[in-house]
Amino acid sequence: MKKYFLIIDEGTTGTRAVIYDKQFRAVSYTYTEITQYMPKEDIVEHDFEEIYEKSVAVCREAMQKAGILPEEIIAMGITNQRNTQCVWDRKTGKPLLKGIVWQDTRTRKLLDEMRRMDCIRMHEVRHCGRRYVVNSSPVTLRWIMDHRPDIAEKMTAGEAAFGSVDTWLVWKFTGGRVHAMTYSNASSLGIYDMIEDCWCAPVFEGTGVPMSVLPELYEEVSDFGTTDVFGAPIPITAVIGDQQASMFAQNCRSVGTVKCTNGTGTFMDINIGSKYVPPQTELAAMVAWSIHGQKTYLYERMLPVAGSAVQWLRDGLGVIKDAAESYDMAMSVPDTGGVLFVTSMSGVYAPAFDPYSRGTIFGIHKGTKKEHIVRATIEGIAFSLADVMDVVADQTGIAIKELKIDGGASKNDLLAQSFADFIRCKVVRPQESAGLTAAGAARLAAVGAGIYTLETLPETETETDKFYPMIDEETAKRKLSRYRDAVERAKAWMK
Ligand code: ADP
Repeated sequence: MKKYFLIIDEGTTGTRAVIYDKQFRAVSYTYTEITQYMPKEDIVEHDFEEIYEKSVAVCREAMQKAGILPEEIIAMGITNQRNTQCVWDRKTGKPLLKGIVWQDTRTRKLLDEMRRMDCIRMHEVRHCGRRYVVNSSPVTLRWIMDHRPDIAEKMTAGEAAFGSVDTWLVWKFTGGRVHAMTYSNASSLGIYDMIEDCWCAPVFEGTGVPMSVLPELYEEVSDFGTTDVFGAPIPITAVIGDQQASMFAQNCRSVGTVKCTNGTGTFMDINIGSKYVPPQTELAAMVAWSIHGQKTYLYERMLPVAGSAVQWLRDGLGVIKDAAESYDMAMSVPDTGGVLFVTSMSGVYAPAFDPYSRGTIFGIHKGTKKEHIVRATIEGIAFSLADVMDVVADQTGIAIKELKIDGGASKNDLLAQSFADFIRCKVVRPQESAGLTAAGAARLAAVGAGIYTLETLPETETETDKFYPMIDEETAKRKLSRYRDAVERAKAWMK
């Protein structure tokens, strides 16, 4: 009897497999780390062969652990870290270089040059939904062509295939029969034209990157072929980018719903409905998902520092042993004792971009204790998000009433409470142990397999913790304005 869904959640640091039953209860879970290759300061690479092998291994292990046979799997779904890219040989199926991870910044000089090109200036925001960044595909592919003539030759001859991790996994699982990329991934890479509904050809023509390397565009819920890798045929019925998957799992399926994933950094995603509207300033527009011919779009706002500030308290400052201890220490003092921490270790991202700012701690006096610094760190993370909310509300016309949070740092109750206090909205945090990205992909795989329709699909019913504003509005406003003043003073430090 077929009764389970097998999900691969391919993340930056590791790959996990989760098996769900038809009620979306996680019945088995396995995880393994992926080697990070960082030979130089600006290089971060993954071995795509290793990603595939480890994905197969975690799936096998998850089945074995729960005593589940491949014959019992209804369908498979894949969710992935976005914007990690590779090129492989269409004939041999072998990667032609190591995968270039989204954190890799080797293309930054090239990006500056390319952003002056007309084809990019005219299309990046209006058609492709975002200002190009170091890992936007035309920039990455152009870099590869400029530095690896052997690969450029294969690309021009139509012998090379391009894709992100999802594309690669589907290719490998189907023995090279399916070369697909979903809209959520294509739009994240800045190559899907959301006005014309196709690959953004003018950017490829203008930058000299051959379009023959591109996969076919697929809806998130599609027939991605069948894999025979596990000894019984298993159809792949859903593939979706990680932020979009957790958004789906957070039930952010109607206009104006917002989720905020606080891991190393923060990814805030807002459902803007079925009509694409080019974004303004620093928001990125993407396809959330496309199901049965109907697309849903989102605006995304990324902040590079969230949990990484807590990591710094542990590894840099050495004042906590583990991330969880940050909560106890912060709560051992009634307030920050006047300390304010602008956590702009990688620059200020909002409302105005300043790459020259660095993390700055204000208000230290003789009575300041490490507990105050810890508390100010947690508050600082909350302030940095609250600070962008006005801009987001202005640009989307959406007043955020409820914020659904997830990710490792969201486990911190003080952070969740501070979001409620400074953003002035209800904050909701589900208790989903196996991770929301996998949960989202599982639901889409079930729709793809015809077990549910979008109408019958049960909402994610996890127990939730709720946080409401506890301080009065006046105090919140005063604190936020003080924070904004501090941000100004933290700017331009590296200049
Ligand atoms: P990612 O997916 O980006 O690797 P995770 O969602 O796994 O991130 O979250 C890990 C981050 O969350 C780390 O930066 C860690 O410092 C932070 N973190 C984990 N637990 C807590 C906690 N209880 N309080 C504050 N931060 C935490």
